[in-house]
Amino acid sequence: MPISSGRAGAPAPDAVSAPPLGLYFHVPFCSAICHYCNFSRGLLDEDLVRRYVDAVTAEVRRAPARFRWQPRQARVDTIFFGGGTPSLLDAADVARILDACRAAFDVTPDAEVTLEANPESAADPFLAGIRAAGVNRLSLGVQSFRPAELLRLGRIHDVAQAQRAVARARASGFENVSLDLMMWLPEQTVPQWLESVEAAIALAPEHLSLYMLELYANAPLRDTMARAQWSLAPDDDAAEMYEQAMARLDASGYRQYEISNVARPGRECRHNLKYWTDGEWLGFGPGAHSTLAAVRWKNVSATEDYVARVVAGASVETERRDLTPVERWQEALITGLRLREGLSLAAVAERYGVDLDARFGPDLRGFVEAGVAAREGDRLRLTRRGMLLANEVLRVFI
Ligand code: SF4
Repeated sequence: MPISSGRAGAPAPDAVSAPPLGLYFHVPFCSAICHYCNFSRGLLDEDLVRRYVDAVTAEVRRAPARFRWQPRQARVDTIFFGGGTPSLLDAADVARILDACRAAFDVTPDAEVTLEANPESAADPFLAGIRAAGVNRLSLGVQSFRPAELLRLGRIHDVAQAQRAVARARASGFENVSLDLMMWLPEQTVPQWLESVEAAIALAPEHLSLYMLELYANAPLRDTMARAQWSLAPDDDAAEMYEQAMARLDASGYRQYEISNVARPGRECRHNLKYWTDGEWLGFGPGAHSTLAAVRWKNVSATEDYVARVVAGASVETERRDLTPVERWQEALITGLRLREGLSLAAVAERYGVDLDARFGPDLRGFVEAGVAAREGDRLRLTRRGMLLANEVLRVFI
């Protein structure tokens, strides 16, 4: 397969035969700002939400002409509303955006359509409305099932709201629900973390994402921790949190398919898999990233700026660059090793023209001997222990 699919601005047949695209919508509004958050978001502003929905819908409508495709020419099999807090939109807004997608792209009948929701804004009419509009996967930002931890993180929902949100999702017809949990929180012990894991398993979601808290330099949580003299558990405890949670999830019928993600068989997040398998996607909304035909770009980040540019018919694109062949194989390696199945070295050689054994042979052998990586035929993957050390392992390839 060639390095570039040649899809951007390509004539019709190329776009039709290319693998389906993903669409990502960044919804940059939140009811409150969590103490650890480093995402692109701002506080809810109803007037700006209205203008944002108009702008993002217009950006979608213009997409075929922008890439010189016919309307409904490019196939799309995943759509993802992330944020921010997409559940702050009205269901009618989500329906409008999805209608625009179906008019601009050939959205496959079995497309995975995910919306991230916070438990406090996952109300019945909203969930029923987005389900009717075609959203078929709900990703709930639960983070913890312990009240003290939710408070420390600055989350505005409580445990009962998280549990009710799952029940409401089921009642609204969602058969694919994912929960996000965060580990290695201030003052959290291993047994306390496992309480949240057990509470999540008890709700029987199809998918779980387990993230380790990252303390950004400017996160308010850092100051709060310093004032309250809270600390993070030692690294050994963090490793134990990860390994014990994964073992418990294995025993409950979940399959780990990526460093931070487990799913019931067949319920892996197809949209996120595009990011980890050199797929292509278009991002809409402020700050959204896109990757198409070995070109990557980002939309302007500030919501007002984004809206003003769309209204003026100007480009929202910034930081556009061609990915070099070296960047492409490095990225394929880094994202491929995040996956439990790892990657095929032969496929990397064929696709990117790089012989990783010749280039990194001693390092790869060292990783295998140290038990952080495994070789099975031509496949290379990280072991579970290796996943804990992923950053150190992956650094070798850059
Ligand atoms: S809800 Fe999500 S995006 Fe919004 S402030 Fe909290 S962590 Fe950040």
